[in-house]
Amino acid sequence: MSEKILSRNFGVKDSHTLKVYRETGGYTALAQALGREPAAILDEVKKSNLRGLGGAGFPTGMKWSFIPKNHSGPVYLVINADEGEPGTFKDRYLLERDPHALIEGMIIAARAIKSALGFVYIRGEYVEPWRRFTAAVREAYDAGYLGQGFDIVVHRGAGAYICGEETGLISSLEGKKGWPKVKPPFPAIKGAFGQPTIVNNVETICCVPHIINRGAAWFAGLGSKTQGGTRMYSVSGRVTTPGVYEESCAITLRELIERAGGVSGSGRLKAVVPGGSSAPILAAHEIDVVMDVDGLRNAGTMAGSAGVIVFDDTVSIPEALMVVARFYAHESCGQCTPCRESTGWIYKMCHRIVEGKGRKDDLDTILDVAKRGAGTTICAFYDGAVGPYISYIEKFRGEFEALCQR
Ligand code: SF4
Repeated sequence: MSEKILSRNFGVKDSHTLKVYRETGGYTALAQALGREPAAILDEVKKSNLRGLGGAGFPTGMKWSFIPKNHSGPVYLVINADEGEPGTFKDRYLLERDPHALIEGMIIAARAIKSALGFVYIRGEYVEPWRRFTAAVREAYDAGYLGQGFDIVVHRGAGAYICGEETGLISSLEGKKGWPKVKPPFPAIKGAFGQPTIVNNVETICCVPHIINRGAAWFAGLGSKTQGGTRMYSVSGRVTTPGVYEESCAITLRELIERAGGVSGSGRLKAVVPGGSSAPILAAHEIDVVMDVDGLRNAGTMAGSAGVIVFDDTVSIPEALMVVARFYAHESCGQCTPCRESTGWIYKMCHRIVEGKGRKDDLDTILDVAKRGAGTTICAFYDGAVGPYISYIEKFRGEFEALCQR
């Protein structure tokens, strides 16, 4: 079991308050960071092997280094707290139980990228996390941590999954419809309000104070060869004790399921979604895989948001795909034809298969439609939807065919 870093205070009474945060070492990293040059902070984060923990897994220090060196206008730091990936609920825990870790991480990150203003975009459904976080921001202003060269604006979303995509989030933050934009330009060059912007996930930034306090080598050593640190895995579905588990990025999926008490229901594992609903599914024999970005990529799936959903052998894979397909059909923003049309068609086909009215050639039609559209759209939403469409059918085709009458 790995050392608890991000969740170390979760069991402490009033862990969300400034008083408790300070008593447990909070804001000591900030004091250190203020004595360092921005380039030195950036270098420390680069060496730590911290990777984005929201979905894409991009190296954080490298992302920060993309801010143009000669830019003379404002630079913004935007925190993506729009945790909408089905099966993922770890940022909610951080916002509710350790909001000052995010604030401290933001002030340090802002120093590294020379930003004077940060935004935290919180999904509309997260009422309690928003309350806790805004109360913590008020405390940080009163204590003088904020308002001394760095300010935070808290913005609530209105419940659209696509606003978790960084350019969609920026559009929404600007007061526009939350539509993703074609990249390049990437936000680090031209982001919020046309200015260079770094978009980072809540958990990613919560790691920063620990990296400054205990050093890049320590942090890198907690994880795998290519990903430093621990990670908060949201484990749900058919496990004995669902919840958020902080473990090393080097843990295997089999070990993680054991941490959550093992498979519940029938007790026999059928499949696991390892990184939120957009991650291709793994069959029971594929769970001896390291849960870091590269380990899961090499296994043909992705670490994504680390939302682990466990299926025992009583779960119907066609029904599970129908639920996932309904979600993507509902959440497509509609800008791109392949995404707008295919998500709807695929949901309808999945629905009729589950109703027993499907045809065997529906399966090839779904695979064909999914594969043709991949890589042709403005944002990664459709590629994310394609992962489950293809993997559920290719790995469990017999189960789908058994439901098709014709
Ligand atoms: Fe919108 Fe889908 Fe296109 Fe993304 S891929 S911009 S969600 S239509």
